[in-house]
Amino acid sequence: MLQVRALESKDYKLIKEAEKVITKNYKYGRHHIGAAVRTKSGTIYAAVHVEANVGRITVCGEAMAIGKAISEGDSEFETIVAVAHPHPHEDIDQCWVVTPCGMCRELISDYGEDTDVIIPYKGELVKCNIMELLPEKYGNERE
Ligand SMILES: [Zn+2]
Repeated sequence: MLQVRALESKDYKLIKEAEKVITKNYKYGRHHIGAAVRTKSGTIYAAVHVEANVGRITVCGEAMAIGKAISEGDSEFETIVAVAHPHPHEDIDQCWVVTPCGMCRELISDYGEDTDVIIPYKGELVKCNIMELLPEKYGNERE
């Protein structure tokens, strides 16, 4: 059973920043995911995902946001979220929160095992520790 917690107002602000960055930069076939990470300093870094024609070299929004924060010298992560932006052919008028993919779960936990992730869970938005989403994480087998 996943250990989840209710969102706080600052978490809704984080979601809003992820929505803002992808709404501003959405481009079909290039960018449709926005992510935002809040560091322990309280600063938010938002970024879009970078899609490639060869799908497996696409870089996720979470990785871009983490890289942006680290590049600014701010690398103590508190909470991260990613949202998907609808495509024009979809009859949807708002972004929605998506769970991090498996690779991002590895990445987020590599850069801070105490980082929280905002996810949709049983019909509502909640947050949980990244390690809840990555049992028996790669590289921890010697501990
Ligand atoms: Zn990912």
